[in-house]
Amino acid sequence: MFEVASLFSVRKRIAESNRNAAGNHNLYPIQEQATLKEIWEYMPCTCDKSCTCRQRGCTGHWRIKDNLEFDDVLPAFLRMFVNKPFHEDLMKLVGKPISDIYTVPDRAKGALLVLGSLRSNWERLYTMARQHDKTLFCDDWCNDFWRQEWDFPWMDGTIFRSAQYCILLPDIGVPYNTNSRLKMMNEVTEGGSYFHLLHEIRKQFIDILQTNRQYIHSLRRLDSPQNQLPFNNELISLARADVNYGSDYSPKVRPLSRVIDKYFYRPSSSVVEQTPARKDPYALKPEQSISVPPRVARSAEFKAPPRQEQPNPTLIKVKRTIANRFAACGNPALIPKIKAGFFTAEMTDEGIFVDNLGGQPFLSWRVFFEAVNLMKRNNGYAAKGDAMNGKLGDAYLPLDSIEGHIADVVYNRRIGYSVFRRITPIACILIWAGLCRNGKGYLVLIKDLD
Ligand SMILES: [Zn+2]
Ligand SMILES: [Zn+2]
Repeated sequence: MFEVASLFSVRKRIAESNRNAAGNHNLYPIQEQATLKEIWEYMPCTCDKSCTCRQRGCTGHWRIKDNLEFDDVLPAFLRMFVNKPFHEDLMKLVGKPISDIYTVPDRAKGALLVLGSLRSNWERLYTMARQHDKTLFCDDWCNDFWRQEWDFPWMDGTIFRSAQYCILLPDIGVPYNTNSRLKMMNEVTEGGSYFHLLHEIRKQFIDILQTNRQYIHSLRRLDSPQNQLPFNNELISLARADVNYGSDYSPKVRPLSRVIDKYFYRPSSSVVEQTPARKDPYALKPEQSISVPPRVARSAEFKAPPRQEQPNPTLIKVKRTIANRFAACGNPALIPKIKAGFFTAEMTDEGIFVDNLGGQPFLSWRVFFEAVNLMKRNNGYAAKGDAMNGKLGDAYLPLDSIEGHIADVVYNRRIGYSVFRRITPIACILIWAGLCRNGKGYLVLIKDLD
């Protein structure tokens, strides 16, 4: 099953990550170095000999510096985790009352919400972080406080939640972005809490050290971006006049969160920078780096639903529920498939584009409404329908199955003809949005829409 990586392959992956980062306009390795100098310090290891960290040769721990206020860490957070064109606006918006959070674009919203909450809880989180002088390899790497703090599903929601723990506990809090989260799902664990993720990453890296007979400092040294992106303190975002950033990536022993982050990290190297409109704080540039399928012209098969005079309340609720989920996860979003893997979905005003339907990637809102409506009418559940084996109206693909019903009423397919198979993205989006639960061959409506 899982093969322990050699130190060589870990080094290769981290170098590759730094090489990619050098081609991204944010120049993250330089930003990380600046943040390291500003807010973190490397202090002698305080663990006793029996601790796993000591057994792997630990001599020092990275931790957040003393006497920091939230305003000291805000630029450190932004430059390291947030796309550059957002910085100026977020510096202004964090902590200010926002009249309507839903007017802030999704990709800025995640950072804004997390930073707002970090700001409100700063005293408590910062005190607990200062008291927790541990590394991810320590036996007591997590105490009751952090155990509770990290009890959230890491696969859901904004990526910025993990970033704040990297800021607070640089030797423990491994952050992720949309891409590395996907890699972690494939290589570490498919679900569970953020605590569980860290627990599994810890196990994996202790294995790597033990199998390769290596010490913590060898791992710390693997993040060495100088060859890929020479340090240049003129390229630091939100640089402070009172900090000496030095002239290289020193010290060579790096925080564990940095090294492990890069092991999973794959920044897009082809981000095209656009200058956002300065005046409008909400005119922010998307940060998402996952690839979105090019929009293809809608299929001839698709027909716009007839204009309805009265807005349909169920349609509005279905749309709102799905839209809220996109708001929480980002748009486009990665949607888990039923068995394994993911597809990408992007919401628009008219419906959702998906990247797993070949040349017919568009699903109108009406598709989701009809699926829900069918279940509502049918005691809360409906067969999915099998368009692979059936023709519309037969036993595999009856008109009261979801696939059959949608083919009939949305796409106007004729009875006895084959139907283009769309059930996977439809079912997965309904499940992901919390509207349905998956059954074997059927879906169950779980959200009360009345
Ligand atoms: Zn130690
Ligand atoms: Zn220790």
